[in-house]
Amino acid sequence: MSNRYKVRAYCSSRSCEYVRKEDVIQAINYETAYGLAILYNESPAKPRCPLCGGQMAFYSHAIIEEVGLS
Ligand SMILES: [Zn+2]
Repeated sequence: MSNRYKVRAYCSSRSCEYVRKEDVIQAINYETAYGLAILYNESPAKPRCPLCGGQMAFYSHAIIEEVGLS
């Protein structure tokens, strides 16, 4: 199984669509990625958006790789 679970960061400002291209972290399963995203979102020291200076938010993201599909 090669599914990947990641946490990514995006700008929480509604007027800005910045999403960080690099993954924040890779997790072993979806539950871990989800839990880490919540943990990061509750952190008081969140990073700032490089475009608008708004607060970044985190979300968990799963990449499901279909195997044997042709
Ligand atoms: Zn922004």
